[in-house]
Amino acid sequence: MAGPRRKTRVRTDYEVIVVGCGGLGSAAAYWLARRAGKDVLALEQFSLGHERGSSQDHSRIIRRSYHNPDYIALAVPAYDLWHEVEEESGVQLVVKTGGLDLERIGTNGIKDLSHCAEAMTVAGIPHEELSAAEIMYRWPQFHLPDDTRGLFQADSGLVDARKANAVHIALARLHGATIRDNLAVESIQSHPDGVDVTTSEGVFHAAHVVLTGGAWTNNLLSSLDLRWPLTVTQEQVTYFATPHLRDFTPDRFPIWIWRAQEEFYGFPIYGEVATKAGQDVGGHEVTAETRTFIPDEPTKVRLVRFLQQHLPRFLGPELFTRTCLYTMPPDRHFVIDAVPGHPRVTVAADAAHAFKFATLFGRILSELALDARTTYPIAPFTADRPAITDPTFAPIFRNEAVLSR
Ligand SMILES: Cc1cc2nc3c(=O)[nH]c(=O)nc-3n(C[C@H](O)[C@H](O)[C@H](O)COP(=O)(O)OP(=O)(O)OC[C@H]3O[C@@H](n4cnc5c(N)ncnc54)[C@H](O)[C@@H]3O)c2cc1C
Repeated sequence: MAGPRRKTRVRTDYEVIVVGCGGLGSAAAYWLARRAGKDVLALEQFSLGHERGSSQDHSRIIRRSYHNPDYIALAVPAYDLWHEVEEESGVQLVVKTGGLDLERIGTNGIKDLSHCAEAMTVAGIPHEELSAAEIMYRWPQFHLPDDTRGLFQADSGLVDARKANAVHIALARLHGATIRDNLAVESIQSHPDGVDVTTSEGVFHAAHVVLTGGAWTNNLLSSLDLRWPLTVTQEQVTYFATPHLRDFTPDRFPIWIWRAQEEFYGFPIYGEVATKAGQDVGGHEVTAETRTFIPDEPTKVRLVRFLQQHLPRFLGPELFTRTCLYTMPPDRHFVIDAVPGHPRVTVAADAAHAFKFATLFGRILSELALDARTTYPIAPFTADRPAITDPTFAPIFRNEAVLSR
């Protein structure tokens, strides 16, 4: 006869707890597990791979073509680390399609493409500056006004976001981490010797906590008596079932960004038998709780109008439109730092262009948690800069071309 069943004791003490398993949290769990193995716990409030956050789609643009040297400095190690994750998993995550940045000459002020080309030259990143005629000769899919110019960089492409998250989680488990989904963190209390993380299943303790809560970041910070000026918007991308498949496969057609006041971007066929495009910051302000999953019609109309003018064969019947959340500090730069006053709590706020850096940020977060320092250049992304601490800091993300895909 079987004896009385023993209740297995749930382990509650860890070296590091990661809160939120989206793009950045799953990467942090992986890099932490490589060094701390079983002493890592990662908690996700919904099912892994859910679609309520920012990271679940087939593709996110990755590129080195930034006007800002701070981002170029991150892009270089980001490519290397994605490659390392691909090597360890055997799963391809980055697809290099080449990338075209496009603009009407003289419309982007200090952020025009000549500054971008200059920053890339200084960083030794090969690129080509192209006229409208040269672009249309190489990619006749584009219909461009004569005063358009472009910058082509061959290493640009896409990261398969959905796969990347799943790969980070799988490898984190391989290295011994415990991943718990459908378990929300209700509050966080930090003490001089550790951090308490309260869930509906009780309190977990860790020497260090990493917050990667995306659009829910302020909910998590509220238990530390903090609220940051993060704006959450509901954005969308549309997949078009173009009949012109051969014109838009990744070997023939690059990712592209139309840099303008109304900024659009797009992808070759990938993940679906369809092209994909969207408008940057085309959506409305929401919260993680008030957002809907209903696409915004005017945003779609603006996108289709742009594509009709400049990439008519890219269009086809709408396959579907997927909504998604942006979470932006007022200067649209990342935060990746210890929470001021809480040295055992590290946070990453993604600024709605972080996926290309997800695995790098996971590595940086693991170093900040385990070593209290990192050698990667994150000085511009501190939590005590005016954009985060000065309530009068005016948001810039809607009134200039931010160039941040
Ligand atoms: C339409 C769109 C296009 C984009 N395009 C690009 C691009 O081309 N290139 C690029 O680099 N970036 C792009 N981005 C931005 C990029 O996708 C995000 O920066 C990145 O995905 C953010 O990841 P995250 O982990 O911070 O957030 P999320 O993926 O949202 O993860 C946060 C997670 O934390 C969990 N969580 C929150 N609170 C709790 C809690 N209390 N307890 C437990 N779990 C919790 C949430 O459920 C969620 O799973 C785009 C974003 C969107 C929306």
